[in-house]
Amino acid sequence: MVTNKEISVQQVWKILEQVTDPEIPILSIIDLGIVREVNISDNNIEVFITPTYSGCPAMDMISMNIKLELLQHGFGNVKITQQLSPAWTTDWMSENGKQRLKEYGIAPPVGKIIDQQFLESLKVECPQCHSNNTKLLSEFGSTSCKALFQCQDCKEHFDYFKCH
Ligand SMILES: [Zn+2]
Repeated sequence: MVTNKEISVQQVWKILEQVTDPEIPILSIIDLGIVREVNISDNNIEVFITPTYSGCPAMDMISMNIKLELLQHGFGNVKITQQLSPAWTTDWMSENGKQRLKEYGIAPPVGKIIDQQFLESLKVECPQCHSNNTKLLSEFGSTSCKALFQCQDCKEHFDYFKCH
């Protein structure tokens, strides 16, 4: 029987790698970098997560998915705590995560400050033809976490993951 606290925490991190983002199922929440900390005391697991985007409706679903995944591994006493400060930045995303996002056809985040002007000034690379000649069509794409861009070269529309 494993009683070492450190090993248990590592196990939890390992299990969390299997929890995916409901909006972008190819990304795990570890890839997204939203899991801040895992605490274990007296068989109670507390997971601290930071939302990628304030008001991101996916967070409730992510909390539920974390609980379900841990429950499947026999851990029932799980508390999810949302940690709002410091705010999530794209720096917390793993390189693996950014790469997978690209392969999925979504431009990975390149900056932190999100407003209309910033989005318009962004040089977002087209995931299809890799042109930088792209234009913001809408501040909001298929979800509130994404902006809609169009490539001026191949005319392809694509989502830009703007969570900050
Ligand atoms: Zn293109």
